[in-house]
Amino acid sequence: MNPNFDVLVIGGGPAGTSAAITCAQNGLDVCILEDRKFPRYHVGETVHPGIEGLLQQLDIREQILNADFLRHIGNWVSWQKKEIFVPFGQTRQELWRGFQLVRSEFDKILLDHARDRGVHIEQPCQAFRPLMNKDGKIIGVNTSKGVFKSSYLIDAAGSQNWVTHKLGLKMIKHSPTLIAYYGYAKGEFANCNKTPLLVADNEGWTWIAQVKPRLYQWTRLFFYYKNLDKNYVPKPLLSMEKIGNTSCSDVTWRISSLPSGRGFFLVGDAASVFDPSSSHGILKAIMSGILSGHLISKTEKKQITANSSIANYNKWMNDWFVHDKNNITKLYKELLNPPRWIL
Ligand SMILES: Cc1cc2nc3c(=O)[nH]c(=O)nc-3n(C[C@H](O)[C@H](O)[C@H](O)COP(=O)(O)OP(=O)(O)OC[C@H]3O[C@@H](n4cnc5c(N)ncnc54)[C@H](O)[C@@H]3O)c2cc1C
Repeated sequence: MNPNFDVLVIGGGPAGTSAAITCAQNGLDVCILEDRKFPRYHVGETVHPGIEGLLQQLDIREQILNADFLRHIGNWVSWQKKEIFVPFGQTRQELWRGFQLVRSEFDKILLDHARDRGVHIEQPCQAFRPLMNKDGKIIGVNTSKGVFKSSYLIDAAGSQNWVTHKLGLKMIKHSPTLIAYYGYAKGEFANCNKTPLLVADNEGWTWIAQVKPRLYQWTRLFFYYKNLDKNYVPKPLLSMEKIGNTSCSDVTWRISSLPSGRGFFLVGDAASVFDPSSSHGILKAIMSGILSGHLISKTEKKQITANSSIANYNKWMNDWFVHDKNNITKLYKELLNPPRWIL
């Protein structure tokens, strides 16, 4: 017998766990297929304070607050002009504070919470290919642990854009190929303690953020394709101990030609990717996960038709992408020498 669920979720990152928890909160039978054992390393650590409301919806806010991640009240930005502090804002009572997440810990807390909520988790389990019925609707997935069947499939497998490629759909590119290089350094950089720093120059930008006491993460992005020397470390971190190798990731601006279709939803990076200057990959992952979970639940309860659920989701995903694109374009145009492809 092949296991049969209401919803199969591929990937146990923030997008996948948020989708699964939302489905489980609405009484659906859900399974996450995650390729790797947790805790596992993942880049992408700085999050806007707006995440707190989403964590509340997932009923996990207190656990994250108790995990004691570093918090910050804004970022230092030097966009080829004077360095300025950009605060997140404040209410009458308090300053808004973002999180500097340690992703191995954050993602594990979310996955454990999904399990506690009754989500079935297969791990390690790699999804190989979707299974279709004769009408072309996805009805399950072939995996390293055999066949799993479901009424809905959520692709939360990240920036490799799994379903889009498996179904022969397109990732529509909105920038030239952009590669983000990143690494870690250990030591002391007082200027950056608890406050991330974004510095632009003629070739691109550099981001430095403290992840833990005495541990800093850096990201370097060039506006045009360029190899980074494997020994590169940003100037302010030069005197520090380099931790691990420099890695890189394709952060070309792109969106799937079909973020949802009959029986499937793409959430988080699986649906769309921007370079990290957009600064809310994790927020978008969680929001799209929650939305897909609600749309599936409403469709199952016959409060909305499958077609309008798909149309709503595609519009939401495309509108957000255009909004992000306009914002980053505006930001890059403010540079003294904006990249030619932005003009
Ligand atoms: C250099 C860099 C810096 C960044 N900095 C930030 C930042 O500061 N703030 C921010 O908000 N965002 C940042 N991001 C973006 C952020 O990392 C992503 O947007 C976020 O991780 C997306 O979450 P996700 O759940 O969609 O995918 P992921 O977190 O990538 O999770 C996907 C999961 O799917 C699993 N998986 C993959 N394939 C399969 C398969 N075939 N079968 C089963 N499981 C599979 C993987 O193991 C993984 O656990 C950064 C990105 C880069 C590259």
